[in-house]
Amino acid sequence: MRVEYLRRGVPLADYQLTKADHRRQQEAAEIHERVQRQVAKAPPLPEARLKRVLELLGSPPPAWEYQQWRLRLYCGHIVEAARLRTSPRPDEGARNTKTCSQCGLNPSVIVAFEPLGPLADPPPEKRSRQPSRSPRKPPADRRSRAELAAENDALRAELAALRTQT
Ligand SMILES: [Zn+2]
Repeated sequence: MRVEYLRRGVPLADYQLTKADHRRQQEAAEIHERVQRQVAKAPPLPEARLKRVLELLGSPPPAWEYQQWRLRLYCGHIVEAARLRTSPRPDEGARNTKTCSQCGLNPSVIVAFEPLGPLADPPPEKRSRQPSRSPRKPPADRRSRAELAAENDALRAELAALRTQT
């Protein structure tokens, strides 16, 4: 399957915020506040249910299932992030914001983006027919600490959302 990756507001360094960006940032901040208040009020998730949720989530997909993106955030910082390679853009649904790793703004709305490339090469059995290459060591898992932290944040957000349903 080929995905046509989109880009917005390139070059990222010259991007000027729009009225819509300011509005989206305000909305994201309000939602974040509301969720934080809900989570603070909610009783802790029972141990058994927590275990079940973690089972359902399973292990995260391997690195080659991710596409790497360069993002410009509302605060003006340019950061990189990985998204599942099946997404044509990095700001779909609940993933339209990110905690800025440079200034700490949370949430910071994604205002512009450009695709960089796959996070890792797929394993040989997943590759389409290609000219054979000289054997080399398989790529190491290139997910950075920041990426793993982001996964962790996403997991926590899902757990928080489940808690508010109890
Ligand atoms: Zn920032």
